[in-house]
Amino acid sequence: IRDGYKKLRVVTYNTTTMVGSCTCKLFETHGIPCRHLIHVLRTAQVKELPEHYVLKRFRKECKIEPVFDEDGILLEANESSS
Ligand SMILES: [Zn+2]
Repeated sequence: IRDGYKKLRVVTYNTTTMVGSCTCKLFETHGIPCRHLIHVLRTAQVKELPEHYVLKRFRKECKIEPVFDEDGILLEANESSS
């Protein structure tokens, strides 16, 4: 896919798992599927964004589970469990 800025973006898409990646790396860096990937999904007639592309941090239930840092120390818990 060539975007308006003359840069060539290559999208790799697995039709079985509906998981793809793009050379612009927007999803990998910001967790947001890029327009190149969405274009490929539309071309593949995928009507809904696959679950894989909606990260937990963007879901309503993201605050239900406690949050730990990399050392396993509890940073944040919901009100019922604390
Ligand atoms: Zn992209």
